[in-house]
Amino acid sequence: MSTFRKQACKCAICDNESEVTVLTSTNSFGSPDLDLRPAEMKRSTMWLWVQKCPYCGFVHSMISSPLSVTKEFLSSEEYLSCEGIQFKRELADIFYKHYMVLMHCGRSYDAYSALLHAAWACDDANDKENAILLRSKMVDLFDTLPISWKKNINWLAQLADVMRRCGKFDELIERFADFNSNDDIVNQVVAFQVELAKNKDTGVYRVSDAVKK
Ligand SMILES: [Zn+2]
Repeated sequence: MSTFRKQACKCAICDNESEVTVLTSTNSFGSPDLDLRPAEMKRSTMWLWVQKCPYCGFVHSMISSPLSVTKEFLSSEEYLSCEGIQFKRELADIFYKHYMVLMHCGRSYDAYSALLHAAWACDDANDKENAILLRSKMVDLFDTLPISWKKNINWLAQLADVMRRCGKFDELIERFADFNSNDDIVNQVVAFQVELAKNKDTGVYRVSDAVKK
């Protein structure tokens, strides 16, 4: 069960106060998807993972937390239009703005996660074109992340799913052909991804589908 409550919140950018909804508890039963999207109930709480100030448009996990973003950036055509991307669902629009804010502040690591959240919102809205676009952006962004991220086997296994879901089959197979870590579950997940890529399969699978019982 997920619980949440409403509370007053002061925006760190424009100082205006608005009402936000805060997640107070949730749970997750069952296997996550291969890109680590959680199972229910947490899966349905995405709309509570970001807040948007109704006055200045600032988007952040908590808009009371300051970031080095300016009102000018938040009112720019680029930001307001999500760089021209027309999403089918407002939640994808909000997560994309979170990505833009974080990139503007040089937090590419967090921006990468915001892009994935936007892609999940597109998945739920059956917005296939933008789901592919966002995952392609993730693949490009991944290679610019700090080396500690790029060598983290869990994030690499997640990247394999991101690549497959946006149809980068040959790149996935090439990148992960010699993948071998000291974690047997991660190795099984990556091998599963390579086999799916060989079949040009962009479907949604869970970690439990990839791991031998
Ligand atoms: Zn504001």
